[in-house]
Amino acid sequence: MKKVNEKKIASLVKELLVELGEDPERDGLLKTPQRVAKSLAFLTRGYRQTPRQVLNNAVFDAGANHMIVLRGIEVYSLCEHHMLPFYGSCAIGYIAKNKVLGVSKLARIVDVYARRLQIQERLTEQVAAAIQKEAHAEGVGVVFKCRHLCMMMRGVEKQNSEMVTSAMLGSFRTDEKVRSEFLSLIH
Ligand code: ZN
Repeated sequence: MKKVNEKKIASLVKELLVELGEDPERDGLLKTPQRVAKSLAFLTRGYRQTPRQVLNNAVFDAGANHMIVLRGIEVYSLCEHHMLPFYGSCAIGYIAKNKVLGVSKLARIVDVYARRLQIQERLTEQVAAAIQKEAHAEGVGVVFKCRHLCMMMRGVEKQNSEMVTSAMLGSFRTDEKVRSEFLSLIH
């Protein structure tokens, strides 16, 4: 996949600093354009990854088809409207058909999509769809709870609001009992 051109980004950041009324030649800012370029490359590295890649074959055979839940997965992303962070946590549940994913891989899949410019709703749907596809799951539930800095430090300045989004696929959508088991396990 295409690498980011950090040199180009650094020169754009330097221009941005000038437009904002700063002097990019002053001591404290001399290395800022390169640092921002590196940081942005890291924060958007999901564009250069796929779920298949990060799974790296960590899909295992399993006999029983019961619900697997992982909660408290840390999330850091950037909103696509302001390029400001939103952050919080994610819970994932799924019922696999004879296959389970390595536990740490669930968190890696979240990062493939979180480390891009996002809206929380799409992030939630993409993570659910990826897990359903990679685990051949009969059902998947994903819940994200995040705070958005674009709301907290600008605009409406609502400091304590948390946005909750969920995506339910397969049996998590159609079977009320499955869905309530999942929701009780993550609360
Ligand atoms: Zn925003």
